[in-house]
Amino acid sequence: MTTPARKQYLRIKSQFPDAILMYQVGDFYETFDEDARIAARELQIVLTSRQYGGDGERVPLAGIPLHALDNYVGKLVHRGYKVAICEQVGEIGKGVVDREVTRILTAGTLSEPNLLPARQNNYMVAIAPGRAHTGLAVVDVSTGEFQVTWFETAEMPVALDAELQRLDPVECLLAEGHEKQSYHFPTKTVTITACPPSFFQPEAARERLCKLFGVQTLEAYGCAHISQAVAAAGAIVAYLEKMNGNLLSLLTGLRSYRTTSYMALDAHTQRNLELLQGTRSGTLHGSLLSVLDRTITAMGARQLRKVITQPLLDLSLLSDRLSSVEELFESPALRSRFTMCLQAFSDMERIAGRVRQGTAVRNEVFGLRDNLALIPQLRSQLLGCNATLLQQLAEEMDECEDVVSLIDRALMRSGEEDEDGDDGRLIRPGYHAELDELFASIKDSRRWMVTLEMRERERTGIKSLKVGFNKVFGYYIEVTKANLKLVPEDYMRKQTLVNAERFITPELKEHEARILTAFERIEEMERSIYADVLRQISVQYNRLIETARAVAWVDVLLSFAVVAAHQGYVRPVLEQGHGLEIVEGRHPVVEATLDGDVFIPNDTELDADNATRILLLTGPNMAGKSTYLRQVALITLMAQIGCFVPARSARLGLVDRIFTRVGAEDDIAAGKSTFMVEMEETATILHHATQHSLIILDEIGRGTSTYDGLAIARAVVEHLHDVTQARTLFATHYHELSALADELPYLKVYTMAISEDANGIVFLHRVRPGSAGRSYGVYVARLAGMPLSIIRRAEEVLGHLEQRPSPVLSLDAPSTNGRRVKQVAEAPSRYEWQSEEARELATRLEQGEDVDLDLLDV
Ligand code: ADP
Repeated sequence: MTTPARKQYLRIKSQFPDAILMYQVGDFYETFDEDARIAARELQIVLTSRQYGGDGERVPLAGIPLHALDNYVGKLVHRGYKVAICEQVGEIGKGVVDREVTRILTAGTLSEPNLLPARQNNYMVAIAPGRAHTGLAVVDVSTGEFQVTWFETAEMPVALDAELQRLDPVECLLAEGHEKQSYHFPTKTVTITACPPSFFQPEAARERLCKLFGVQTLEAYGCAHISQAVAAAGAIVAYLEKMNGNLLSLLTGLRSYRTTSYMALDAHTQRNLELLQGTRSGTLHGSLLSVLDRTITAMGARQLRKVITQPLLDLSLLSDRLSSVEELFESPALRSRFTMCLQAFSDMERIAGRVRQGTAVRNEVFGLRDNLALIPQLRSQLLGCNATLLQQLAEEMDECEDVVSLIDRALMRSGEEDEDGDDGRLIRPGYHAELDELFASIKDSRRWMVTLEMRERERTGIKSLKVGFNKVFGYYIEVTKANLKLVPEDYMRKQTLVNAERFITPELKEHEARILTAFERIEEMERSIYADVLRQISVQYNRLIETARAVAWVDVLLSFAVVAAHQGYVRPVLEQGHGLEIVEGRHPVVEATLDGDVFIPNDTELDADNATRILLLTGPNMAGKSTYLRQVALITLMAQIGCFVPARSARLGLVDRIFTRVGAEDDIAAGKSTFMVEMEETATILHHATQHSLIILDEIGRGTSTYDGLAIARAVVEHLHDVTQARTLFATHYHELSALADELPYLKVYTMAISEDANGIVFLHRVRPGSAGRSYGVYVARLAGMPLSIIRRAEEVLGHLEQRPSPVLSLDAPSTNGRRVKQVAEAPSRYEWQSEEARELATRLEQGEDVDLDLLDV
């Protein structure tokens, strides 16, 4: 037979089938059944069992102590579980105590600061697919950001995947029935939450949003005409309402944005360029962010992540950013002044959110106050600068004098003493008359209490008499056993200790009662006054948040300037057009990780209109091809986020999208081979690239047979050259492709320079015109530590292969005209070579290099 306790558990659990139910039993939270198995596994806690009812049925059980809840729940939530906290709410001792689920915690609704990464946003998204559009709404309840965007059907799924990659959400809301839809989330542990379809119903969603913002229409929010955008935003509101209505107060507005306002970076490209995460480390290490992040505040760090993944397309905005970075870059004194100022800032943005929710503690409120007090200084420093953006940020900051003075009038800092030396007060004397009266009413009793010891010692003659207080017995007078004979008649015995007795007197009892009842009321009153102070501050929420965001921006610009100064970056020149000219460019991340070794800078010159559309780069593995390709992409991206770039100089025509097809990324989970993934990525590029795009292709067609691969690579290059006409860097193993230079006027062939001597080869990491004669694969295999026997055999096989008939280069004398070939005048009418050199020679001629033709037999 099931016991009443078990019945109650099963009833509550049935309401939260998809959550782990933490069920309070006295000083513990217990989990049962399947929940217990999960908790034991994920939290490494002991799994036991308990008997319920008389028939010997035992159920699995795993528990955690009450005080450790946050820590354990944090772990579960970060691993993608939902956790429902069920607390005892009724009186204990009368049958089964009443219980209620008081909170449901999920990854996307957490706002406890110790459960969130400080320097990163904690986004929850809702996706509303539709026939014409797919809506995507985004919220971070710890900062109050609430945004929405949408994608045309033709942009799907690439644009949505890109946005999900950028946002890296921890939780995603989908309408029931759609949860099997496969969206690509960068975080494997993302919590997928199925919501009732009514959450996503556009009309209901519209009403819900209007009600939340207190408006008649959504026109002002810029998304009223896109029903799927409204649906997605409305779903977020419905969900937060259900989970924790408090959180809704943070949503004071909705910002609509289009990803087309920014440089497009598809999901592969964001990963390939290792913008926020190094692919090898899976962490910050090796990422562009790790090099650029010198931000001081958590708000600045969060802002920088957004800035890096949203490069701009607007020259004047970029020029504003670059000018402000330049001003900071040029003055070390200015930089150190801003640095010192920012170091004193706490996380105003999240604290403002907690104030708004009514959960901020006193120290946080004072943190906010102290930050606001710094604003005038920060603002005057900004106003002293010339750059318009810095001035504009000063204008956006508000020192909120009213908030500071409210906090100063209302609250005491922790540990601060009042006039009477009392350091336990929360509300400042003078702020609340009734509270002050309460304190005054017990002032006499407290003074009486303080002088009691002295008076009683005199009256009784017991020198060692003591007055004390403990939680169970209250105030008492303590007399040692030796002095008991001196105890007066009005003393009443209360407690016996080993060496002493404790007494009370009727008068003491009276004063005690007065003090204790007053304290109960004081506590209650302080709590409600404190909550009211938070409410008053939170009326200014928008001013606080705007100020916090302006501070975050200063932090980002300062970080750019600091990195530029330390790493020797320069201000890029940005313009319209299709050029790209980098002198002595470097890879920002590789350069920073080469300890001791110097990074070899390289030039890049592309001009899609007149000279070079496609730069074909050949060279063996490990020669530095990938580094060079990514360096060009990263310099372009850095310029378009308003950052200085690692080069001697850079002049760039604005790029609308960067595409990369780099390396081989297997998507085995989706049942796709490397080759399939590669072809899909290439197809995306061919469909979406424009003349303004920058395309980075590394080794196309490698995953299939040589002929297939070569054929596909060639077709792709021809298309990019003739049709797309985008600036393209193409690295390849197929030196056969070098011959394309003959046919495609805007394609130039380059190779990674190598020096070869008796001891082997040395990679010079220098890009030079021409093509690589061979691929040095066997040499690289030796470097990688392949057994020597294998290397020898490979060399032998290679020798045989190389003895086969080589390509033939045949050249009519007139065709060499204008190619600066020496001694053309003396040469016969036709040349022909049949050797490995033929291929290389052809490219060198094509590159306009001088070639001594008389060295070669005709
Ligand atoms: P590839 O793509 O040709 O196989 P990578 O670009 O991966 O070669 O480069 C291999 C290694 O060579 C890099 O990890 C880096 O350590 C080094 N390297 C590449 N380019 C440079 C450079 N310009 N200066 C110094 N070292 C470089």
